Amino acid sequence: MAQLTNDCFAFGGRLLSLPDALTLIAERFVCVAGVEDVELLAADGRVLAVDLVAPLNVPGEGNSAVDGFAVYFDDLSPDTETTLPVAGRATAGHPLALGLPRGVAARVFTGALMPEGPDTVVMQEDCSIEGARVRIRPGIRRGANRRLAGEDVRAGSVVLRAGRRLGPPEVGLAASLGRTTLPVRRRLLVAVFSTGDEVAEPGAPLTRGQIYDSNRFMVAAMLRRAGALVTDGGILPDRPERIRAALADAAAAHDLLLTSGGVSTGEEDHVREAIESLGALTFWRLGIKPGRPVAVGAVRGTPLVGLPGNPVAAMVTYMAVARPLLAALGGEQPRPLRRLAATAAFSYRKKPDRREYVRVSLSETAEGLLATCFPRDGAGILTSLTESDALAELPEAMTELSPGAAIACLPLGALYD
Ligand code: AMP
Ligand code: MG
Repeated sequence: MAQLTNDCFAFGGRLLSLPDALTLIAERFVCVAGVEDVELLAADGRVLAVDLVAPLNVPGEGNSAVDGFAVYFDDLSPDTETTLPVAGRATAGHPLALGLPRGVAARVFTGALMPEGPDTVVMQEDCSIEGARVRIRPGIRRGANRRLAGEDVRAGSVVLRAGRRLGPPEVGLAASLGRTTLPVRRRLLVAVFSTGDEVAEPGAPLTRGQIYDSNRFMVAAMLRRAGALVTDGGILPDRPERIRAALADAAAAHDLLLTSGGVSTGEEDHVREAIESLGALTFWRLGIKPGRPVAVGAVRGTPLVGLPGNPVAAMVTYMAVARPLLAALGGEQPRPLRRLAATAAFSYRKKPDRREYVRVSLSETAEGLLATCFPRDGAGILTSLTESDALAELPEAMTELSPGAAIACLPLGALYD
């Protein structure tokens, strides 16, 4: 379990900057996920637990990169055509048994081992076949069209580092080394709760003033994409003792607890108090918008992220705080979010002490990407996420943005990648 201590940043009203919050997360939260071996295909989307070292060269021996003729470069005339007798034929998986003497070409196909002797392959498109001879155009480069032993992977080299999230190319690379299984980090067990007397279960009838729970499903979907095993903790009422009991109970069987709602300064915001009474806050109140009231801490030694209730704030704080925390707990190397350079098509004013995320649509123009901000910017407007493409990231120091300014945008799809 991550060992967390109390922290002065949580109190005193001052906002913690996002970079400082990320430093705290990196310092306080350590990997809690054990290691298991899984079949290669099941490793897709998982986190590699140890460095993967190549036991062999790939390719194992030099081979032809094209269909053509293997020759000694020094047999070719530099500026006129060369005609050579063809002796021998090597196909992929069927090498020539004997080496090739000087003055002779061998028919070779893509992937066939280079016959012993020749150093160059002429593409068949650059030749004409005349019975048992081949006529070769001038202008070939020495060593052309051949693949060298180990040019993809060198035996003994580290091809993937521990902590790497594996995807299709990594699975393919492991297979190219002959692996059938890989050691990966166990999936994190995460319990997800919503809070609020007004929050109702989809499917249930709504009474006046109630809304259906959207956060729990959105957050669970993001966690699943992150490779976690999600337990549905349901909706907790705005009752301190119920919140405390549910969190304490879940802490015993999970690696992380995620809640939404109840972390602001209102009288019915009980999640922060629950963290303080059952464990400790690492920080609360971050210099970001939306999402300022996000709370991070631990309950009975189990890390907890209290996301704000407004759905857009919940999404932004998941991206900014929960995603890196999950990576730390799951033994994953930090993966910085991809940022796209764009030009703002809007003006914007902001306070200097916080980083703001503005929902934007991106359009491609001859000058590059143009970012237009979504007209309804409330943190409760969930359609602003389904109808936008990206979050424009406006740095702390910026106070005013004018149309035409260069901005960085985080594509929404990458947030839960
Ligand atoms: P809170 O942080 O609890 O004060 O909630 C802030 C706003 O987010 C309120 O308008 C809540 O109704 C709304 N909200 C809280 N939880 C959810 C949820 N699970 N799904 C949708 N909206 C929510
Ligand atoms: Mg609430």
